Amino acid sequence: MDDLSRFCCQNSTCPDYGKRGAGNLIVSMEFGQNTRLRLLLCRTCKARFSERKGTPFFQSHLPPEKVIEILEHILEGCGIRKTARLTGVSKDTVTRYSRLAGDHAKALHEELVAFSPSDKGGSTG
Ligand SMILES: [Zn+2]
Repeated sequence: MDDLSRFCCQNSTCPDYGKRGAGNLIVSMEFGQNTRLRLLLCRTCKARFSERKGTPFFQSHLPPEKVIEILEHILEGCGIRKTARLTGVSKDTVTRYSRLAGDHAKALHEELVAFSPSDKGGSTG
């Protein structure tokens, strides 16, 4: 059984936000080969987030926006070389993300999009 007691929901509008060990979290997915990364799901609000939220993704120097961009190109079916050219990163980087994400590229992309702060102005607080 996965020990999720040290994690809590990251959705500030969720009734179970910040409650560790409340039993609302389940592991919805695991991905990564060398780096085992779990995607957690809050059953209360259905929010998904990574157990490593707040830490650099895959020890990357790239901002999440750039990773999203790379994944979007990969998901669109762009080749490694084309993706590298369009996103301005090295082929090695594209290869690494493409391999890390693998079959879960779409889920990973969605997760990263969810993490990214909205670029819309204004906030309801
Ligand atoms: Zn929640």
